[in-house]
Amino acid sequence: MKIIRGKLAMMRWSLLQKAKGKRIAFVPTMGSLHEGHLSLVQKARKSADRVVVSIYVNPTQFGSGEDFDRYPRTLKRDAALLQAQGVDLLFAPVNMYESDTVMKIDPGPMQHLWCGATRPDHFSGVATIVLKLFNTVQPDVAIFGQKDAQQATILKRMVRELDVPVQMVVCPIVRDADGLALSSRNAYLTAEERAIAPTLYHALKSIQKAFRAGQTNASAVIEVASKMVKGSLEYLVAVDGDSLQPVKRLEKKVLLLGAMQLGRTRLIDNIRL
Ligand code: AMP
Repeated sequence: MKIIRGKLAMMRWSLLQKAKGKRIAFVPTMGSLHEGHLSLVQKARKSADRVVVSIYVNPTQFGSGEDFDRYPRTLKRDAALLQAQGVDLLFAPVNMYESDTVMKIDPGPMQHLWCGATRPDHFSGVATIVLKLFNTVQPDVAIFGQKDAQQATILKRMVRELDVPVQMVVCPIVRDADGLALSSRNAYLTAEERAIAPTLYHALKSIQKAFRAGQTNASAVIEVASKMVKGSLEYLVAVDGDSLQPVKRLEKKVLLLGAMQLGRTRLIDNIRL
């Protein structure tokens, strides 16, 4: 596996692959890799001739007081995992921004919903870095996880509205045996917090169960499910999968989104009804 740390070298490598007629699949990450990330890599492997994974802890998507400084950085271990997966190239840029950067993507109203309510600049930072990575790596296909549902929705919209020539693929959430969605941030949890972390998933599942039993009043079902969450619940909502706007009536295509704070750790999860 090749490792590249500079943007120009990355662009050159991709242009060379394209000149050889090779299709590139790309998996952007912030590292501290787990089975969730590796499932995206496996999907990438099946989707193109070359697989590029990036590891970059993007400063512009962290708010002040968030965990940018303590975010786990485990490059050596991550590189070994990616090599074992048959990844062709690890792009681990030291820095992606100019020192006088003023440009950024404005993802529009959707950025202020849900996670955006407590993380005002987060989705602008995400969209900006993903577009920069796309311009650098020039992938044919990009693979994301449903774990970050709002992120995936916003990025798909960016690609569509800004005519970015990349095919977007979103893969299912990989979970621990007790249902907790795998996340790099799970490493922050104490033993007690880890024990109650799956309650967010249990609450989402209970809404699904109620729906399958015939209940369609979203607010009534959510009110009951909220009580199952043993942490500080930030939001638990039923939304339209495309617009992310709340819905009153539960239907099969509805997306359930949740976020909670456990001590110093913020966890998110979602399921489709
Ligand atoms: P991150 O390193 O947290 O920025 O995540 C990189 C990519 O991995 C994003 O597209 C995430 O949605 C995806 N991802 C993170 N956790 C999971 C998971 N448990 N299952 C599937 N995909 C995931």
